[in-house]
Amino acid sequence: MCGIVGYIGKRQAAPILLDGLAKLEYRGYDSAGICVFSEDGFSVAKTKGRLSALSELTNGGAELCGCLGIGHTRWATHGAPSDKNSHPHVSSNGKICVVHNGIIENYLVLKEYLQSVGKAFESDTDTEVIANLFEYYYELEGDLIRAVKRAIEKMTGSYALGILCMDCPGRMLAVKKNSPLIFGFGEGENFIASDVPAILKYTRKVVYLNDGDMVDFNADGAVFYNALGERIEKVPEHIAWEMSAAEKGGYPHFMMKEIHEQPKALRDTVSPRIKNGRVVLDDLQLSAEYLRGVRRIYIVACGSAYYVGCLGKYILEKTCRIPVEPILASEFRYAQPVLGDDTLVIIISQSGETADTLAALREANTLGARTLAIVNVVGSAISKAAHDVIYTWAGPEIAVATTKAYSTQLSVIYLLALYIGDLLGTLSQEEYQTILKALTELPEKMTAMLTENYLEHIETLAGELYEHHDVFFIGRNLDSATCLEGSLKLKEIAYVHSEAYAAGELKHGPISLIEDNTLVIAVAGVPELFDKTMSNVKEVKARGANVLGLTTEDLEADIRKTVDRCLLVPKTHPLLQPSLNVVPLQIFSYYMALARGCDVDKPRNLAKSVTVE
Ligand code: GLU
Repeated sequence: MCGIVGYIGKRQAAPILLDGLAKLEYRGYDSAGICVFSEDGFSVAKTKGRLSALSELTNGGAELCGCLGIGHTRWATHGAPSDKNSHPHVSSNGKICVVHNGIIENYLVLKEYLQSVGKAFESDTDTEVIANLFEYYYELEGDLIRAVKRAIEKMTGSYALGILCMDCPGRMLAVKKNSPLIFGFGEGENFIASDVPAILKYTRKVVYLNDGDMVDFNADGAVFYNALGERIEKVPEHIAWEMSAAEKGGYPHFMMKEIHEQPKALRDTVSPRIKNGRVVLDDLQLSAEYLRGVRRIYIVACGSAYYVGCLGKYILEKTCRIPVEPILASEFRYAQPVLGDDTLVIIISQSGETADTLAALREANTLGARTLAIVNVVGSAISKAAHDVIYTWAGPEIAVATTKAYSTQLSVIYLLALYIGDLLGTLSQEEYQTILKALTELPEKMTAMLTENYLEHIETLAGELYEHHDVFFIGRNLDSATCLEGSLKLKEIAYVHSEAYAAGELKHGPISLIEDNTLVIAVAGVPELFDKTMSNVKEVKARGANVLGLTTEDLEADIRKTVDRCLLVPKTHPLLQPSLNVVPLQIFSYYMALARGCDVDKPRNLAKSVTVE
């Protein structure tokens, strides 16, 4: 994820671009760049690091003259954050310049082809492929719009693009698919941006481009086309938001925004790794031979990432038939773990900087295990120290309580389960295909859940339950791990004391704490264990508990017979059900926190990236 901005008008472009990028830095901040197009041609300034470094480099933009330009603040996906990988990217012959937000999934095939016809590349990015593909078709077509249309037909993945062509002074094209892009109408000036705050200072008249839309514009006007290439009219909307709200994309909190970003984050993480109906983990150096010799897997992490590991135990053991042990990083490092070259250590961290996790990783490396990191931040310490890395493409996560990073980490566990299970032959082809299909359908199912009605229903539940001081989460098998995450969310942001127990364990002690009106949240998403969990619900109800049950939509009538209130989720493959079950629990914690007057995005005593032991 990254931010793009474009300007054409009568004012000096560079300071406007820098100002716009500053409002988009939440989208990425590992490097930044701008290109200004004047009668002297393209002037590109780009650098690794925060936007302030670019601002310094260009003297606040004053160094770059010209009234037309594009800018970018990057969150690297393809290629480490570096000067050469920073956007904008200029094509081989210097004629086309682009900024890009998104991922081109088939960039390698395109790159190979373009290299074979003589196009030169300077960066490791997928974006430079776009610039050269545009150049290639522009040479064939002699027309920018036709060239862009032909090129995007060949590209799979996600993109929002600002495009300049040396032969088209005073003009810019923009096009999008699966990444956000808006167009802003000014007086004698026009804008594009990834998000409203970038241009809110200059105009409140914007249109949101739909997937496949293209806009061809200059300082005085714009022509819009739809995915079929037909000219369309776009009626601008008036943005009434205040800047502070708009920075969160119109959501009141980053957490709610990030909850809504989960379907896209899942798609970005999963789809580039599926080619021709198979999971392809190009990023892994792990050989098939090595994986066949693995006798034990540790999953080492902290907080929510550790709970992904707890789910990982059930998922990987079921699909790969290798013993899996999730372990807290802070414990692992001092536990003298039994490791060797037949042990795979999977390390999970959003930031890639978590101190305990990093130390545990180093320990595992020293003890001779093979280490594989699942990390969100490119180039982070953990990504560098591990033997292998699989990145989650969740984009920057700003709310302290994780949502989309958790979901994408879990999606990588599914990819690994399929990959290893297939390799070891422990997963039948039929099961492989069923799980793969369910995995690719997850984003859609999650989007379908995130409706206003669904949110309102959960808000109402939170409104009825927010005064509870003690909550018990119970569930079996995969659900017991989901309960751990649901319970942590409630503690973190709503400051409610809560405990998570495997449902069958409650009677071995904690049931003594159940009294009249104690809130119990029962997760019953594993079909074959539904009745068993309901028996445990009956046990707590018999002792006065107030039960909120969570299950799949098809079991609504059944769960209502036993619980007081219920939360429903769409049904998916049982192994993937935790991906959907966690969503209402995230939303529930969010509304509980609001009802209790807590600071959702910045909960007390916590920090996003825990870099101390
Ligand atoms: N894939 C591009 C890059 O790595 C754009 C990054 C993004 O939008 O996340 O440079």
